[in-house]
Amino acid sequence: MYKKLNFIILLTLFFMVGCSNNGENVEDNKLTIVTTNFPPYDFVKQIGEDKVNVKMLLKPGEESHTYEPTPKDIIDIQNSDLFIYVGGENDVWVDDILTSMGDKKPDTLKLLETVPTVEEEIVEGMQHSHSEDEHEHEENEHIIDEHVWTSPKNSIIIVEKITEILSNKDTKNKTFYIKNSSEYIKSLEDLDLKFRQVINSSKRKTILFGDRFPFRYFADEYGVSYYAAFSGCSTETEASPKTIGFLIDKVKEEDLPIVFTIEFSNGKIADSICEATGVKKMLLNSGHNITKEQFENGVTYLSLMEENVEVLKEALN
Ligand SMILES: [Zn+2]
Repeated sequence: MYKKLNFIILLTLFFMVGCSNNGENVEDNKLTIVTTNFPPYDFVKQIGEDKVNVKMLLKPGEESHTYEPTPKDIIDIQNSDLFIYVGGENDVWVDDILTSMGDKKPDTLKLLETVPTVEEEIVEGMQHSHSEDEHEHEENEHIIDEHVWTSPKNSIIIVEKITEILSNKDTKNKTFYIKNSSEYIKSLEDLDLKFRQVINSSKRKTILFGDRFPFRYFADEYGVSYYAAFSGCSTETEASPKTIGFLIDKVKEEDLPIVFTIEFSNGKIADSICEATGVKKMLLNSGHNITKEQFENGVTYLSLMEENVEVLKEALN
C-alpha cells in the first residue's frame, strides 16, 4: 500500500531530477503511452503495434498491489502523450502526482470512468479486511472493484476508447489504428462467446478461490457464483482457520473439482484446501501483470483469457 512518507520523498526526488521533458522518444514522432498495469498496456500494443511507444510502469513479474512509482516513472508519466491508469485503490498515488504536475500533466484515461463499476463484495465465508478494526472496516465497506478488465465486454469498451484517443492524437495513423482495433475487438467478441458457451453448457456455475477474488466483473457478466478467501484487492494473505474451514466445507458440499488460485500468489491457502479435500489446484489468471518469462514469450491478455476458458471447462464440469 502506498505510504504518505514515500510520496513526499518521491516528490522531492522528482523535482531534483527535474521536471522538463528529457527528449526521450520525442525524435521518432511516435505517440508515447504509459500505462500502470498489463491489460491496457497490451490493448495499446494490439491497436498501435509499432506506431506507438508504450511503457508499462509495473515491471514484468512485479506484484501490482505493492507497486510504488519511481522518480523515472513519474517523469515518464509527465512526458507521455497519454497516461492510462485504472483509478482504483491501488492507484491512489496517481491523483497526487497528477495534481503536482499542474498544467504539465499529460492527457489521461481512467479505466474506472470508461465502464459501469461495482463495489467489492463480501460474500458468505469471505474474510473481511481488518475486521477486528471497526473503523477501518467501515472505510473498507465501499471500495470500487477495480478489476474491470476481467470482463471481455468491458475490455471491448476500453479498447474502443483507446482507439478513439489514439486516432484523434495521431490522425495520420488513424486508419491503421481503426483496422487493428476492429480485428482485435472481433477476437474479444469471440472470447466472450467462448466464455458464454463454456459457462452456459457447464454442469456447475460455482467457482471457489483459496485466494483473493478479482473476478467480480467476470462473474457478474457470465452468471457465475463464487466463494473466496478475500475480496478483490485485499492485501491479506493469511486466512483464518474459520475461512479455510468454510471453503473446505463448500468444496465438499458442492462437490467442486478445482480450487483456484490467482497469478503471483503463493497458493498456500488453496494448497491447504486441496490437502483437506483431495481436489486439484488450478490458476485462473486475472491478468494484473505477467511474469518476465511470459513477457518474453509474447503472452497477451487474449492468450491469458483463452487459457482461462480451458481451465473453466475443467472446473465447471
Ligand atoms: Zn487487484
